[in-house]
Amino acid sequence: MSNEINSSNFIRNIVVEDLESGKHKKIITRFPPEPNGYLHIGHAKSIVLNFGLGDEFNGRTNLRFDDTNPIKEDTEYVDSIEKDVKWLGYKWDELHFASNYFDTMYEKALLLIKKGKAYVCDLTAEEMKEYRGTLTEPGKESPYRNRTIEENLELFERMRNGEFKDGEKVLRAKIDMSSPNINMRDPIIYRIAHTEHHNTGDKWCIYPMYDFAHPLEDAIEHITHSICTLEFEDHRPLYNWFVEECEMESHPRQIEFARLNITNTVMSKRKLKLLVDEKIVDGWDDPRMPTIAGLRRRGYTPESIRNFCHAIGVSKAASTVDSQMLEYFIREDLQTKAPLAMAVMNPLKLVITNYPEDKVEMLELENNAKDESLGKREVPFSRELYIEREDFMEVPPKKYFRLFPGNEVRLKGAYFVKCNEVIKDENGNVTEIHCTYDPETKSGSGFTGRKVKSTIHWVDAKHAVPAEFRLYEPLILDNLEENEGKNFLEQINPNSLEVLKGFVEPTALKDAKAEDKFQLVRNGFFTVDSKDSSKDNLVLNRIVSLKSSFKLK
Ligand code: ATP
Ligand code: MG
Repeated sequence: MSNEINSSNFIRNIVVEDLESGKHKKIITRFPPEPNGYLHIGHAKSIVLNFGLGDEFNGRTNLRFDDTNPIKEDTEYVDSIEKDVKWLGYKWDELHFASNYFDTMYEKALLLIKKGKAYVCDLTAEEMKEYRGTLTEPGKESPYRNRTIEENLELFERMRNGEFKDGEKVLRAKIDMSSPNINMRDPIIYRIAHTEHHNTGDKWCIYPMYDFAHPLEDAIEHITHSICTLEFEDHRPLYNWFVEECEMESHPRQIEFARLNITNTVMSKRKLKLLVDEKIVDGWDDPRMPTIAGLRRRGYTPESIRNFCHAIGVSKAASTVDSQMLEYFIREDLQTKAPLAMAVMNPLKLVITNYPEDKVEMLELENNAKDESLGKREVPFSRELYIEREDFMEVPPKKYFRLFPGNEVRLKGAYFVKCNEVIKDENGNVTEIHCTYDPETKSGSGFTGRKVKSTIHWVDAKHAVPAEFRLYEPLILDNLEENEGKNFLEQINPNSLEVLKGFVEPTALKDAKAEDKFQLVRNGFFTVDSKDSSKDNLVLNRIVSLKSSFKLK
C-alpha cells in the first residue's frame, strides 16, 4: 500500500514527533478486534489507520484477536476477520490471540495481589453497583477490601481451581473508591465463567476483564501507539495504572479517535448480529450489510474502501458521514475499471418489422466511454430486441423523448427506430411494440440527415442471457443515532431489496465470474453475486447507480 498517502491527522503527527524525538526508533501498531462478529466499515477505518501508519513509517502492525470473553466468541469470526483484513489489502507482521497471554495475565494478577493492589471480593453484582457510587457521589469501600495478601492468594487460586460458581467471587484492583473517575473505583480484573474458550478449551474458568487484559496485551507486544476509539478515553488512567503496577517492560501510549458513523447505517456488531439472527438479512455478507464481507459481495473494491477511509480522516470530534460518500468512492474506482455492457432489467419486446428475419449483425461498441484502451466488443443485433419497459409510453407526458407511437429514437450503437404499432394482451397490457428501422442511420456511419432526442439501450432477444438483477436501498430508514434508545428493528426499510428478471447482452457477460464488475448502460454499476450466481442463473447485484448529486467537499 506504499503508493497510498495517509492524510495528515493528529495521530500521525504524534507518530512523526515520536520518531523525530527518538522516543521510538520503530513504531508498532495493532488492530485488535474481538472475534464476536464480522468486521464492518467502522473497523476498516481503524485497520486503514493502524496498518497505514505501520506501512508509511516502516514499522510493524499486528493483528490481535482480543478473545478474552469466551461467551460470545467463535472461530467462524476469527476466520472471517483474517480474510477481510487480507482482502482489504493488508498484511500483518504478527498474528496473536490475547488468550495466548492468559498465563502471563494470571501471573500479573498474582503480582498485584502480592503488592496489596488487588483483592478477592464477594459482593454480588447488584451490591457492587450500589457501592460504586455515581458521577457526583464517591463509592463505598467493599467489606472485603482489606483481606490479607495470604487470604487473597488462597481465594484467587481456589477461583482458578473452579471451587466457586460464576459470579460468586471476583478479583478487583485496589485503587480508589472515591476517585472522580468511576473506572478507577476498584474495577474487576478477573471473573469466574465456567465456559469453554474457542482457543484455550476448558483450561480456564476465570477470565480477565477487558480493561485489565487490553493494556497487558499491548505491553507484551511492545505496541508503541495503542489506537482506540473515544469511549476508552476515560479508561486511559486505568490503562496506565495496569501497565505501571504490573511492572510491564514497555509502556504503550493510548490514543483515542472518534468512531466512524454513517447515515442510514447501524454499525455495532451486536445490532448486526441481531439482523443476521432474526433473518432480516441473508447472513453477515448480505449485500445490504455494512460489513466488509457484505460490501465485498455488494461489489465494493478494497481500493474504494481504503480511499474512503483516507478521505474521512481521523479526529477526536464525533461525526456522521453521509452514506453517499462511500458510494462516491466506488463510482470513482469503477468508472475506469468496469467494462460497459447493456442489460435490460424490466424487458419489453421490440420487433423491427422491416429487418430481415434471419439476419444477425455484429455491432461494435466501446468497452469504456472514458478509456479507449479498454477496447471494443461485438454485440449481436437482429429483428427482435428487448428494451426497458420505462423507455416506452403509449401516452407520453410532456418532455418524454423516448419511445411512443410515432416517435423515433436511437438504439445505442445501432440504428434509429420508429414506433408504429403497440401490441396488447386481453387485459390491455402492452406486450410488444412494432417499429421500423432506417438502415441509413447506423451508428458510426456519419449519418446527419436528422436528429433524435433520445438514445435508449437494448439487448438482442435471441442472443441475450437471462439474468436476475438485485437492486438495493438502505437497510435502515432513519438516521438514528446510536444510543438514541430507539429500537432500530422498527426502522428497517421493507423495500431494501428489489429483484428484477431481465436480460444482459451475451458478449461481455457470457464468461463472467463471481465478483466481476460491469457498468450497465444507464442502469448502474453491477457485480456478479458470489453466492447465488451460476452459469445457468446469472445474478447481478447493483453496487450503485451511475450518478448522484453528492459532491465531495
Ligand atoms: P462494535 O461496537 O461494533 O462491536 P467494537 O469496538 O466492540 O465494535 P472491536 O472488535 O473491539 O469492536 O473493535 C476492534 C477495533 O476496531 C477497536 O480498536 C475499535 O476501536 C475499532 N472500531 C470499532 N468500531 C469502529 C468504528 N465505528 N470506527 C472506528 N473504529 C472502530
Ligand atoms: Mg467490543
